[in-house]
Amino acid sequence: MEKILVVEDNKTLAKLIAKKINLELDFEVEVAYNFSEAKLFLKRYEYFLTLVDLNLPDAPNGEIVDYVLGLKNRVIVLSGNIDKEFRSNMLKKNIIDYVNKGGIDDINFIINTISRLKKNQNHKVLVVEDSMIFRKQMQGMLENMFFKVITVAHGEEALGILESVSDISLVLTDYHMPVMDGLELTIAIRKKYTKNDLAIISMSNDLDDDTTALFLKNGANDYIKKPFSKEEFSCRINNSIEALENIQAITNHANRDFLTGLYNRRYFFEHMQPYFEAATADGQRFAIGIINIDHFKKVNDTFGHKVGDKVINTLADILRTYVDEDDILARFGGEEFCIVLKNRTPDEALSHFENLREKVQDTTISLDDEQKIQITISLGVILNPEDTLNESISQADMLLYNAKQNGRNRTEHN
Ligand code: GH3
Ligand code: MG
Repeated sequence: MEKILVVEDNKTLAKLIAKKINLELDFEVEVAYNFSEAKLFLKRYEYFLTLVDLNLPDAPNGEIVDYVLGLKNRVIVLSGNIDKEFRSNMLKKNIIDYVNKGGIDDINFIINTISRLKKNQNHKVLVVEDSMIFRKQMQGMLENMFFKVITVAHGEEALGILESVSDISLVLTDYHMPVMDGLELTIAIRKKYTKNDLAIISMSNDLDDDTTALFLKNGANDYIKKPFSKEEFSCRINNSIEALENIQAITNHANRDFLTGLYNRRYFFEHMQPYFEAATADGQRFAIGIINIDHFKKVNDTFGHKVGDKVINTLADILRTYVDEDDILARFGGEEFCIVLKNRTPDEALSHFENLREKVQDTTISLDDEQKIQITISLGVILNPEDTLNESISQADMLLYNAKQNGRNRTEHN
C-alpha cells in the first residue's frame, strides 16, 4: 500500500488527518511531529505525498518545504496562515496545493484533494504547445498533479498521438501555433471524439470573448487565459477531468449489467452491430455463442434467489476467464450470456466453447452453509456468421434450444 507522510506538530490534528486519510482513502499514513522526525521518515521511505505544516517547533518558517521538494517528493502545504503574500510565495514553489487546516471542512478538502490526485494517475493529458518553455512548465505542473503527460509542439502532431494512444483523457491546447492552430485542432478532434471520450481545454494570452466563445462552441470544455495562477490551472483541469469521469461513470452504468458487471444486452447490440458488418464484409473469422444455465429454475427453487445470484456471478467470473481483450462478453438477461470470439478459426472457436462447457461442469460452487452445488450449461454456437447480426443471434438461439432438447450440457453448432 502506498504511504502518505503527515508532518504536523498539533498531535490531535495530525492524528485526525491521518485517521481520515487511512479510513477514506487506501493509504498507509505516517505522522511526524517535527522537522527532524520527518527527515528520518523521508530518508527511510518513499511517499506518494507529504502533507507538511509550515510552522514546526524546529522549522518555524516553512523550511521543511524546500527540504521535501529537494528530495523530489510531492508536497501539499497545510497552513493556518492566510497572509496573501506568504501564500503566493509558497505557491511559487513547486508544491501541489496550499490548504487551510482550521476545521473539519478543511480536512474534507484535504481528503478530496488527495483522492483527486490518486485518480489523476489513471489519466493521460496531451499538451499541445509550440513554446518549449511553456510546454515544459505545463508538463511539470501536470506531472506534479499525478497525471501522465504527453507533450507535442503542434496540432498535427497532436492528431497523430490521438490516433496511436487510445486513452487520452484531456487535450490542453494553445491557440496560436504554426500549421494548425488550437481552434482548428479542437474542430478536428471533435469530428472524431465527443465530450464523452475526452475533454479539451484551450489556452492563450489573447483570448478575447469572441475567441473563447468560438472555442466553446466548437467543443472545448473550458479555456484558460494566460498568464494563469497555479491554483486556477489545477482547478480548471481537475474540473474537466471530474466531469469526464462522471460522464464515463454514467455511460458505464448504462452499458453494464448490475448483478455481474458484465456488458448488458443493449451495449452488446450497439457495439456488435458495426463489428458484425465490418467483419463479415472483409471475411474475418469469428464465432457467436449463446450460453444458458441448465435447470437454473431448480437452483432458485431449491436454494433461493440469493444462491441463484451467486451461481450467476460464479458463471460470469468463469466466462471472464474465457475471453480475450478483443472478444465480447455480455449477460443477455436471466441466466443467459453471449460470447463473441474474434479472430479464431471455426475449430478453435468450437473447442474453446467446449472447454468452457467442461470447465463449468467441473466447477464446484460452495454455499455459505458448506453445501456445494454444480451446474452445467448448454450452448448454441454460430461459426462463421453471415447474414445479419439479428439473424445470427436467432440461429444461435435455435441451436441452444436444440442443445436443451438433446439432453443439455452440450454444444450445438451450425
Ligand atoms: P433450461 O435448462 O431449459 O434453461 O431451464 P431453466 O430452469 O434454466 O430455465 P427457465 O427459463 O425455466 O428458468 C430460468 C429462471 O431464472 C427463471 C428466473 O426466475 C430465473 N432468473 C432470471 N434472472 C435471475 C436473476 O437475476 N437471479 C436469479 N437468482 N434468478 C434469475
Ligand atoms: Mg436455463
